Amino acid sequence: MTVEKEVEERNPKSVLAVDLGIRWIATTVNSNNPKPKFYDKELRRVKGHYFYLRRSLALKKAYKTIKKIGNKERRVVNDILHKISRAIVNEALENDSMIVLGKLRGIRKNGKGRKFKRKLNNGFPYHRLSQFIEYKARWVGIKVIKISERNTSKTCHRCGHRGLRVGSLFKCPHCGYVCNADYNGAMNMLKRATGYMPIAGAGRALCPGLDTALNPVG
Ligand SMILES: [Zn+2]
Repeated sequence: MTVEKEVEERNPKSVLAVDLGIRWIATTVNSNNPKPKFYDKELRRVKGHYFYLRRSLALKKAYKTIKKIGNKERRVVNDILHKISRAIVNEALENDSMIVLGKLRGIRKNGKGRKFKRKLNNGFPYHRLSQFIEYKARWVGIKVIKISERNTSKTCHRCGHRGLRVGSLFKCPHCGYVCNADYNGAMNMLKRATGYMPIAGAGRALCPGLDTALNPVG
C-alpha cells in the first residue's frame, strides 16, 4: 500500500552519498563531513543466524518449520531495514543534504561484473533498503537522485586510477592509498554526484536535476 502526501522539496546544502556495499549493507559519506558511517552489523548477524538455522532444519527435514522461519526472518530483516533507512534519512536531515543512491540494476541473468554477482549472492536486500530510503526521504521533502555505480568500487577516490579490492580493503597501486573498500565506493559516489567524476560518454545526463539541486535557481 502506498500513501501519498504533498511535500515541499527542501533546498539541499550538501550531498549524502549512500553506497550499498558488500561488507556493509550501506556506507554513507557526506560532502559536509568526510567521516563515513557504516550500517549495519546487526543485519549480518541476523542473516548468519537464519542461514545456520535453516541449514540445520533442512538436515532434519523440518520443511514446515523452515517456511515459518522464512516469514519470521523477513519481519526481522524488515525491522532492521526500517531502522537503517530512518538513520540515513535523519543523517540527511541533520546536514540539509540531498541523497544520492546507486542505480541498482535489478535481478538480471546477464548481470555482469564481480561486484554485481557478489551482491546477488550475499543475500542482502539492497532493493528493499533502497526503496525504504527513497520513500522515507521523499516523505520529508529530501531530494533523492540515482546515479550509476559503475566503476565506483574499482577506482581510487584519491587519484582516480584503477585499484584492487583485497578482502574488505581497497588498494591503489598508483598512489599507494589503502582504505576500507566500501568507504572508497561511497567517496566515488559522492564525487560522481558532485560532478568531479563524470562518466565517459554519459556525463551529467546520468544525474538529471543535480545541477539545479546544488545551485537552486531563484
Ligand atoms: Zn590512487
